[in-house]
Amino acid sequence: MRSLIARDRGLLWHPYAPLDGDAPYAVHAGNGVRLSLGAADGRGFEAIDAMSSWWSMIHGYRNPVLDQALQEQAGKFSHVMFGGLTHQPAVELAERLIAMTPDGLDHVFFADSGSVSVEVALKLAIQYQLGRGRPQRTQFLALRGGYHGDTFAAMSVCDPVDGMHAAFPSLVAKHHFLPRPPAARLIDGELLADPAEVAGWITALEETVARHRDELAAIMVEPVVQGAGGMHFYAPQCLAAARRVADDHGLLLIVDEIATGFGRTGKLFASEWAGIVPDIMCVGKALSGGYLTLAAMLCSARVARTITDSPLRALLHGPTFMANPLACAVACASMDLLLSSDWQSNVQRIEQNLAVALAPATNLGSVRDVRVLGAIGVVELAEAVNVPAVTRAALEHGVWVRPFRNLVYTMPPYISSPADVATIGAGITAAIAQAHG
Ligand code: PMP
Repeated sequence: MRSLIARDRGLLWHPYAPLDGDAPYAVHAGNGVRLSLGAADGRGFEAIDAMSSWWSMIHGYRNPVLDQALQEQAGKFSHVMFGGLTHQPAVELAERLIAMTPDGLDHVFFADSGSVSVEVALKLAIQYQLGRGRPQRTQFLALRGGYHGDTFAAMSVCDPVDGMHAAFPSLVAKHHFLPRPPAARLIDGELLADPAEVAGWITALEETVARHRDELAAIMVEPVVQGAGGMHFYAPQCLAAARRVADDHGLLLIVDEIATGFGRTGKLFASEWAGIVPDIMCVGKALSGGYLTLAAMLCSARVARTITDSPLRALLHGPTFMANPLACAVACASMDLLLSSDWQSNVQRIEQNLAVALAPATNLGSVRDVRVLGAIGVVELAEAVNVPAVTRAALEHGVWVRPFRNLVYTMPPYISSPADVATIGAGITAAIAQAHG
């Protein structure tokens, strides 16, 4: 029998990778923060998942509470259409989300992935403007360095240069973009940036919106942390300004909390860094504790009322697996686990441990910057990462990472112990030293 990896190669597409790209590692088991992996050469590894399976697996693998929630729901019914039907896991999860998100978000649409929740958010913003009698407002103001997903509308608000616009020039809608908001650094619990740079960025925001207000439906941002577009931390004043300017010009503010939500930045939602409430919020990833694909779009009563009062009346979306009961049940358990745990202390501890554990990386010749915010640690290199070499070297030090561009980064599960975070920091530093010097 050929190995799993040999059978995978040429058969399965992996994210953003050619069919004949680098061989993947095969996962045999996950437990707590650890994965058991096998390499193409037959070598086995036990590694801490420093990626939390792309921000999602915050409570760890085989979490007994989440396992039980899943099994209980599977014993009732695993799926049912949401057209004309409802069920307890969906209602309870929506109630939990409304209670835990900033006051002013009142309604929930469940989607089956983050990208789809972004599609729904963009569609809702356009339907809102239509409902307000402004059908010409069909464009978005987004940020350079942003990332919002891989479906076409989501792609259109991703960074227009580093994103996929160039691959599909006639198919990706053209929108307006502002430069990345100025970088901020965490100092004594505050995210601080150069005040002159912040003022300059806000002026550009005001001018751009004033110039294009009649075409713009909404401002679309990742709050305070831009993830897949470069692991960039920015000044919360820029987010606060986006809220104010959107209000001044009749635009909606859409905040994509898919990566940042549920405590990752040290606040339950990163919007709290700026003390703002968006009109529309997208969440996903950690929502289901990483167990199943689930996302949600939340909106204010004002936005929802405009849709209900419009000739269309409905939000024009409805996927087959909308509000999947297994996913909603496990998400209810994930949210209860999060809120009943001392998540803030856990994230704060990880933040402090990451700062210490990654500090030695600043001494490496190849490293340009090391930054930490909440349970996110980023090592930025001066050159593109040799991904296969760094991945393999980190595994040899007991750590699973998936670098991209010039970034080796980590967002550990919240259950990571100080020793786990020390292993992650040491593994990342050693792997960069080995592969890049
Ligand atoms: N927005 C952000 C900020 C994300 O990080 C991601 C996923 N990387 C998405 C949207 C898209 O989510 P999904 O991959 O579940 O479609």
